[in-house]
Amino acid sequence: MNTEKSRKLFDEAKKLLPGGVSSPVRAIKPYPFYTKRANGSKITDIDGNEYIDYVMGYGPLLLGHNHPAIKDAVVRQLEDGWLYGTPSELEVSLAREIIKLYSSIDMVRFVSTGTEATMGALRAARGFTGKNKFIKIEGGFHGAHDAALVKAGSGATTLGTPDSAGVPADFTKNTLQVPYNDIEAMTEAIKTHREDVAAVIIEPVLGNIGPILPKKGYLQDVRSVTKENDIVLIFDEVITGFRLAMGGAQEYYGITPDMTTLGKILGGGFHIGVIGGKREIMGNISPAGAVYQAGTFNGSPVSMAAGLAVINTLKKEKVHEKVNKAGESMRRALSDVISDMGLDYSISGVSSMFKVFFGDMPYDYQDALKCDKEKFNVFFRKMLSDGIFLPPSQYETNFLSLAHSQDDIDKTVQAYQRNLK
Ligand SMILES: *Cc1c(COP(=O)(O)O)cnc(C)c1O
Repeated sequence: MNTEKSRKLFDEAKKLLPGGVSSPVRAIKPYPFYTKRANGSKITDIDGNEYIDYVMGYGPLLLGHNHPAIKDAVVRQLEDGWLYGTPSELEVSLAREIIKLYSSIDMVRFVSTGTEATMGALRAARGFTGKNKFIKIEGGFHGAHDAALVKAGSGATTLGTPDSAGVPADFTKNTLQVPYNDIEAMTEAIKTHREDVAAVIIEPVLGNIGPILPKKGYLQDVRSVTKENDIVLIFDEVITGFRLAMGGAQEYYGITPDMTTLGKILGGGFHIGVIGGKREIMGNISPAGAVYQAGTFNGSPVSMAAGLAVINTLKKEKVHEKVNKAGESMRRALSDVISDMGLDYSISGVSSMFKVFFGDMPYDYQDALKCDKEKFNVFFRKMLSDGIFLPPSQYETNFLSLAHSQDDIDKTVQAYQRNLK
């Protein structure tokens, strides 16, 4: 495979962009490929190589690249302008649709990214309760803002130490960590800090070191313990929303959180974020209340139009039925490959998410860290040379889309078979 043009471009990019890229995970070693175009399940680089894409923009493209319904909706919107600085009917329509699908949501605030959504949700929860601390899950990712940039620590509960230079320890001292799938640890943390805990924020399925799935009963227990202690439960469904089901993981697992953050899939590839929740909490957001939130691009007409088209297409084309079936078929085939080869690897996933872990099935962050990352990186490169674009990390989820065909799946399974050897 010739990737000379990409190599050259990256050499120049390194001088112009930190690490040569615009977001860290894209810095594939020794150099990333540069995309020329993408369509359906395929992505083509500037050297003319074509890959079957399982990155799918890191989650948003449940409908595949370039879905005509999204393109049409956006092009039509462009004719009428793309930034108003006033309200538009589009945001009212999209809010109505979301609120119909998510019974936990009475009101929404539209923002531009998932990062802004979780930042705003945490602020709203803190404003509502008048408390400062929040509990997150080790390995849970809620975007790149200061308070959420805290990862693992030792022990059941760790007071946050920032994960990034430039984040003062003062900014993360109210961030508590507990392991996923460990209700005792969460209960203990709540007991210890009861007077101070405003919220628990959790990805119902850990999507950013996984997928790692909730054990039976875990999410119900999280719901119970937060309710008993008057703590706002925030489901960060930026990955799982509109993916596991129309109503996200909360519909799939039958849990009702107090607040929800959405993003990724809803925009169909355009920038969007949603802060949603109960009226009593959302009603405190400015200008209705004292919790400040604002944004030049909030409720962007193009993103709203894309969002309406995404919801419409998800319904009309029975997307979940199709992609969930593709996911099952992929996981079953890969599971057969692994057991036929006698590898002590595991295959995890739900709905259209899947991942081969190079190690035992992980149930939390510490488990996941035990996987053989070095071997995964070698495997990743081999798959790429074979025309299969997986996320370049053991800890990023593979995504199927409506555009992936049975032929794509067969080719991919064969490539797994060849390259796992
Ligand atoms: C991607 C992601 C975010 C951040 O969203 P951005 O749009 O990248 O800011 C937040 N939470 C979860 C669960 C995500 O997967």
